[in-house]
Amino acid sequence: MRKPIIAGNWKMYKSFEEAADFVDEVTSLIPSNEAVDAVICAPAIYLATLVEIADETDLAIGAQNMHYETEGAFTGEVSPTQLASIGVDYVVLGHSERREYFAETDEAINKKVRAALNVDIVPIICCGETDAEREAGQTEAKVEAQITAALQGFSAEEVQHMVIAYEPIWAIGTGKTATADDANAVCGAIRQVVANLFDDATAQAIRIQYGGSVKPENIEELLSKEHIDGALVGGASLQVESYVKLVEAG
Ligand code: 13P
Repeated sequence: MRKPIIAGNWKMYKSFEEAADFVDEVTSLIPSNEAVDAVICAPAIYLATLVEIADETDLAIGAQNMHYETEGAFTGEVSPTQLASIGVDYVVLGHSERREYFAETDEAINKKVRAALNVDIVPIICCGETDAEREAGQTEAKVEAQITAALQGFSAEEVQHMVIAYEPIWAIGTGKTATADDANAVCGAIRQVVANLFDDATAQAIRIQYGGSVKPENIEELLSKEHIDGALVGGASLQVESYVKLVEAG
C-alpha cells in the first residue's frame, strides 16, 4: 500500500505573517503522518521559519524549486545544500510554470532530481500536457518523454522514493479538473513508464499525485482511483480549512 501524499504548492502567494500563522494552525489540525504525508511547499524566503514551526509535527515543508549546483556564482538562486541545511524535506521540480516562464529543460530537471537525492530531499517531479497536446492525443507521449528524461541515470532503488505529480496544464488554476478516470488513466500510464524503465516493484512503490484544480469537493473521488496516490494542490492549499480537508481525505 502506498501512503497518500497531499502537497500544497503555495506558488508566489502569502505574506510572511500569513505563512507562519497558517503553518502554526495547521500543524495541530492535520492527521498523523503515519496515515498520510502532508507537505506545504512555500516561497523560499519563508522556509527556515516554517521548518522551525513545523518541527516535530506531522507537517513537512518543501521548496518549489532549487538550483542543481551545490554552490557557486548563481545570483538569486538557492542550492539543494542550502535547503537541506535548514531542514527542508521536499522540493517541487519541473513545475509547468517553471518550464514555461523560466525555460526549465528536461535536462536541468534531471540534474535537479539528482541534486535533491544527494542531500536526501524528496523530489516531486511534475509532468503534464498542454490543452493542444491533449486535443492532439499526445498526452501519454508527452508525459512519457518528460518522465523518461527526469529519471535518466537513476537506479530502481532511488526511484522508489521519488514522487511524480501529473498536472495537466489546462487544469491548473482554471477550475477545470481532469475526470478522475482520465487522471487515473494517465497516472497508470506513468506507472507503466516506470515499470518499463525499471521494474514492476519500483512502479508499484513510486507515488503519483494528480494536480490541477483539486479541492475538497473532488479529492475523494480522485484518491479512490488505483493509480492516484495523492494530490499537488495550488489554490485550495492557501486556506487552512480547505487544506486540512484535503489532508483528511488522504
Ligand atoms: P491549482 O490547484 O490552483 O489548479 O494549481 C495546481 C498546481 O499547479 C499545483 O502545483
